[in-house]
Amino acid sequence: MKRKIIELGRLLYQKDLTSATSGNISYRSGNKVYITATGTALGFLDENNIVEIDMEGKEFNSQEKASSEKFMHLAIYKIRKDIKAIIHCHAPFTTAFAACRKELSAPIIAENILYFGKIPVAEYGMPSSKKLTENTSKLFQEYDTVLMANHGIVVGGDDLMNAFFKLETAETYAKTYIYSKILNEQAFLSNQDIDDLYILKNKLHSK
Ligand SMILES: [Zn+2]
Repeated sequence: MKRKIIELGRLLYQKDLTSATSGNISYRSGNKVYITATGTALGFLDENNIVEIDMEGKEFNSQEKASSEKFMHLAIYKIRKDIKAIIHCHAPFTTAFAACRKELSAPIIAENILYFGKIPVAEYGMPSSKKLTENTSKLFQEYDTVLMANHGIVVGGDDLMNAFFKLETAETYAKTYIYSKILNEQAFLSNQDIDDLYILKNKLHSK
């Protein structure tokens, strides 16, 4: 598992989804969580930078300290038993939305509507604070991808790649929104178009 987290960190860095020492990745296995250590660069992790913690956040077998956002990760795992992997980062395009406290919901791309519905913004909480943990984790009752006001984005998935694909898709959505805004001719899907998409989604799911 440590190897997979290292590979994912490198991928996030190569895809410009993270920079320097920001962001953190975790993976839950039973009652144990593997999480990146505080102050580490996700693009350049080694096995010592991945800390094992219990569900209360206590580190074991490690010289390094777990990420200061460990309580946010743990709170999400406690709310959502189906989530096994979490990525938090400051990916620039989605974080631009977080900086504006603007949810990502504009109906500009059909597949994004099907994939996300919307990506909400959690109310602001200072990094590593209890408020940040509470404000962000509570949105996971309904969503897998959440923007954090004036901070970044957090995604949960049933494995590391699934979480990565959600993050990458959200970042592409934000990027496309911003570019289409620059073109200044955004054409929103109509309510009827959106209703039809949900009918299609239900059909695809019921097969
Ligand atoms: Zn952060």
